[in-house]
Amino acid sequence: MTHRMGPGPTRRGVLTGAGAMGLSATAARAGYLPAPERTEAFDVVVVGAGMAGCAAALQAAEDGARVCVLEKAREARMGGNSALAGGGFAMPPGPGEGARAAFLEDFEKKAQGRGNSDLYEVMAAHAREDVAWLAEHGIDFTDEMRVDPYHVVMAVVAPGFYMGMPRALRHLRSRIEERGGSFRFETKAQHLVMNDAGSVEGVRVVGPGGVADLTAPAVVLAAGGYPANTRLLESYSDPNAGALMVRGVPWATGDGLEMARGVGAGWKGMGGVMALHVAAVDPVETAAGNPFSLLPHAISVNREGQRFIDETRGYVAHGKAVLEQPGQRAALVFDEKIAELPAAESTLGTFRRLGIDVKSAGSLADLARAIEVPPEALEDTVTRYNAAAKEGRADGLEPPKSDYAHVVEGPTYHALYPLAPGVTLTFGGLMIDTSARVLEADERVIPGLFAAGEGAGHAFFNDYVGGGALTNCLVMGRIAGRRAAGG
Ligand SMILES: Cc1cc2nc3c(=O)[nH]c(=O)nc-3n(C[C@H](O)[C@H](O)[C@H](O)COP(=O)(O)OP(=O)(O)OC[C@H]3O[C@@H](n4cnc5c(N)ncnc54)[C@H](O)[C@@H]3O)c2cc1C
Repeated sequence: MTHRMGPGPTRRGVLTGAGAMGLSATAARAGYLPAPERTEAFDVVVVGAGMAGCAAALQAAEDGARVCVLEKAREARMGGNSALAGGGFAMPPGPGEGARAAFLEDFEKKAQGRGNSDLYEVMAAHAREDVAWLAEHGIDFTDEMRVDPYHVVMAVVAPGFYMGMPRALRHLRSRIEERGGSFRFETKAQHLVMNDAGSVEGVRVVGPGGVADLTAPAVVLAAGGYPANTRLLESYSDPNAGALMVRGVPWATGDGLEMARGVGAGWKGMGGVMALHVAAVDPVETAAGNPFSLLPHAISVNREGQRFIDETRGYVAHGKAVLEQPGQRAALVFDEKIAELPAAESTLGTFRRLGIDVKSAGSLADLARAIEVPPEALEDTVTRYNAAAKEGRADGLEPPKSDYAHVVEGPTYHALYPLAPGVTLTFGGLMIDTSARVLEADERVIPGLFAAGEGAGHAFFNDYVGGGALTNCLVMGRIAGRRAAGG
């Protein structure tokens, strides 16, 4: 028997008569027969309860839509990779035109001019007001901070890096529910369903109660990126990319990309390791065990005891370089005086909090043994590096060090080891326009389908300005929610 569990006619009255009993015959065919027993109707269905999904759902609910958020994870694991994020949102350094231009300059430069400039414009225009919107909804932020060498500032979810996101997402959930929205956990969206007119009109899900169709005139895909999808990584990024550690949740498998492709959506920006954010991190604490602030001040050696990159090029360039090293392992070597620098202390404080061991020794030879590199090779590397380090630079070395070239001279030597490359986020994804509408490869709009967040918009290329990904989720998520609700 087919019966309807939904709430009666929706705000837009999309499901009436026979339609209210389920999807049309064509839709049911497109949505893979047999048609499910249960059908429910909403104004907006959002797939994914991370930052982009919560921003979309809250905005749509604020605009009066009856919203349902689907989340394939258990309730206790709500939030996807957003829950693991540092919690920094990149913003222009002020309200004016000059500040917006500075934001754009940072983003374009970091993406080597190959990111999605249209999205950067939208982010520059809305980031500050959208962070203020989160604050109005009760999310606390620390004071804005500058992040060298950028012009942009970061608003970090309180109480600080890697501490605030899970609570912030739970808080957004309660705001959505206060506005009549509902969450379905352990409920996986499997297919999008199109109606006779070629519009997306629902999602087929599998959840605790079995298979159901959730119908809505607008669906927002906010299901994240594909860092945990070996097939996509090996097909598009690098044949060996599937062997990389996954820094985030292991169920970030690009489901939104796959589902949207089923109704004709285009994908973009997925080729090569340029489409990946990679960092060399602690192999156990893969999320927060990232020594990014210490890196430029230390020297990084491979398992042969050799330097292999200018450490000041940043932690993503470093992560990708470690990929090319024997055994894909690296160690950051430094001494007591370097450990006392505020930037180093920030990393070391996090590592202490996480219980990650810092190797220490009274000689380079002993340190070398602790980090499993040949002692003579490490001594030779450090001796040559110290001889070249003058006025903060170490030129004439291969590779050189263009800043923060502190002599490494003991009396105590330290190392963070092992560090291994892991994928943080993926940059490619669904083609969308600046209204978050999903596009086919020839830029035809797919009616009824919106997308936002890591899996949409191919915002970044090779690297991103820290905090840029969460800003993308927030700004484009809000736009998707507003448009999906008919605004
Ligand atoms: C360790 C780490 C640190 C980071 N730090 C920062 C930072 O400080 N600043 C920054 O800007 N970025 C950071 N990032 C990147 C950023 O966190 C992500 O790009 C962003 O959170 C992605 O948000 P999202 O909403 O698009 O996806 P997610 O937060 O991953 O949410 C997607 C949700 O969709 C659900 N889902 C997927 N498929 C389905 C399906 N078929 N049905 C139902 N539900 C589904 C998932 O379970 C998940 O909950 C970090 C990433 C990691 C891994």
